[in-house]
This record gives sequence, C-alpha cells and structure tokens, in this order.
Amino acid sequence: MNTNQFELIGLAGRLLAWYDREKRDLPWRRSKDPYRIWLAEIMLQQTQVSAVIPYFDRFLQTWPRLSDLARAHDDQVMKAWEGLGYYSRARNLLAAARLIETRFSGVMPSEEKELLSLPGIGEYTAAAIAAIAFGRPVVAVDGNLVRVFARLTATDWDPSNLSQRRQVRRVAESLLPPGRPGDYNEALMDLGATICLPRRPGCSACPLTELCLAFHQDQVDRYPAKPRRRPRPVENKIVLVLIWQKKFHVSRRPAQGLLAGLYQFDWLSPSVLREGQAADLALAQMYPGAKISWLGEKTHDFTHRQWQLGGYAVQVEARPELKTGIWVDRRTLAALPFPAALTGYRERVLLL
Ligand code: SF4
Repeated sequence: MNTNQFELIGLAGRLLAWYDREKRDLPWRRSKDPYRIWLAEIMLQQTQVSAVIPYFDRFLQTWPRLSDLARAHDDQVMKAWEGLGYYSRARNLLAAARLIETRFSGVMPSEEKELLSLPGIGEYTAAAIAAIAFGRPVVAVDGNLVRVFARLTATDWDPSNLSQRRQVRRVAESLLPPGRPGDYNEALMDLGATICLPRRPGCSACPLTELCLAFHQDQVDRYPAKPRRRPRPVENKIVLVLIWQKKFHVSRRPAQGLLAGLYQFDWLSPSVLREGQAADLALAQMYPGAKISWLGEKTHDFTHRQWQLGGYAVQVEARPELKTGIWVDRRTLAALPFPAALTGYRERVLLL
C-alpha cells in the first residue's frame, strides 16, 4: 500500500462523522439482534438492498426468532424465498438455523471461526456478523470494499482475487476505530454502495476525498483492477407445461445443484427434435390431438450461465404415462416454490 503521500490515518474519524449524518435507515439496522443481522447479510448476498427489504420484513413476520425459523418447514421457507434467487441461500439458512439450535443451544455464535462452520456463511458474512452484532474488531471485505480501498490507495487490487481481498482486509482492520467496529463496517458498506460506485463515483460528496490517492491523481476510473471475464455459456431449453384435466405436471429438482429442491415443469429434450424440426411439430406428434399453445421466450441469467427458454402449454385429453413428477391443481401450483426463470410461464398457464 502506498500511503506516503496521502495517509489514511484520519479515515475512520471522517467516515464515521459522515455515517452518523448520512447512514441509510435499513430495517436490519434497528437492532443488534444477531439473527436479524445474519438474515439480512444472507439476503444481501448477490441481491440489491431495495429487493431485500420486503423479503426481510416478511421473513421476520413469519419467523420472528431464530428458533421459529429452525422449526419451519423446508417448503414454506423456499416459498418465502421465491423471487429472491440463489436458492441455496435459503436452504443453507434453514440448515444453519437448525444447527445453531442443536450445536450452539439456540444462540448465534459470536466468533468468526464458529460462524464459518455454519452452512452459507463465508468469510465476508462471518466478519460482518462478528463486527456488527458482536462488536468484534474485524472488517468484512467484499468487491465494494476492495474498490474503495483500491481507489483510496491507488492500488491495482482485483475484487475477484481472494488473496488481494485479504490484503484489503488487513489494511481496513489496521484503521479500525476503537469501540465502533460495527459502524465502521456499515459506513464502509454505505460508502461503497452509495458514493464510491463502480461507475461515476460521487467524489464531490465523498467524506474521504482528501485522503483518496486515485482522486488526487485523477485516476479514479483506473481502479480497481478489472478482472478478466469468461463468456457465459448459453443453454437453449424448451419448457413443456403438460395440462391434463385442469392439473399441471410438475417435478422437484434434485436436492443438490442448480435450483436444488425447487419445482419445475417438464423439459422437451433436444433428442426428441429431429434435425431442424420445430418444437411444436414434435409436440403435435408426441401428443396427438392435444391443444398446444406457445408461451413465449424468456432469457434468464445465472452467475455462470444463461438460459434461453421457449415455452409451450400442452393440454392433453388422456393422461400421459410419466415416470416421475406429480399432477397438481391451480392452487397448489401457485403455492409451490418455483425458480424465477419459470415463474413467468407459471403465471401464463394459470390464466389458461
Ligand atoms: S474520493 Fe471518489 S474514488 Fe475516492 S473513495 Fe471517495 S468516492 Fe471513491
């Protein structure tokens, strides 16, 4: 770190004075209840604050205490999570709540090492809970924080590089103010989320301009180092909604892997399509006499892949022989936890 020209020693004081004036009023900041802070941190992984707030409020209404969540039914939790994405977070949340009940007598552990032993809690979340809920002198470092410190120190840190994240953590922790580790963490989070943005940071409103090396060098856009991106693979898939006597055929995805444990419609296997054959022709041959309706196209982005979907509803007279899955009525279909990629198709077929 180059702090020869611009010392960061006054950073915490300036940052906290700004935070005391400008901090965001967020529902999980209204108490130091470790359960609330943990729940918020899990929901905020990969998700915007504005999207998290209604889910956070609903979760707390349904499961006000950790012990309530630990006793919840899996499907109920998955349903409550529907639309928030990255469903492994919900499964891990539930598994961790149950572990806290059994292994830690229902009390959220306060040490990072113990927190890290719980499903779904990585380095960032463990440090955030330890600092905010328990006042431990640690700093949670995510991509936003790497960006802020890369600019402050004009260093080519790359947010995707784990060892560089740890370097940033050491720097940030060396500047921790005594007695306010939670506020220091939240102030840095606010700065990264509202001022020191990836593009066009609001340096004129930043409490740290005087200390910021990149700002003084007029090189803010140069930092942080840009990670090399690999192109995301695209998967073309055809969704098949089979309807028989006003019932819909669904199955549950495997307990592990992408969208684990959620429900889905059937897929038209590419092997069914002969070269160049349109899907509706293939469906007409597979289900003679069925009423076939096109449900439209949809693109859904995951972190590491993209689904390009086309959907068909196939209303059949005779019950097809299917080895797996169940037939459900409208009400059940609407209540089952479904991945966001398929909820648009579900809404369409519920109107048929
Ligand atoms: S001065 Fe600008 S670049 Fe530097 S920390 Fe503040 S917002 Fe970020």
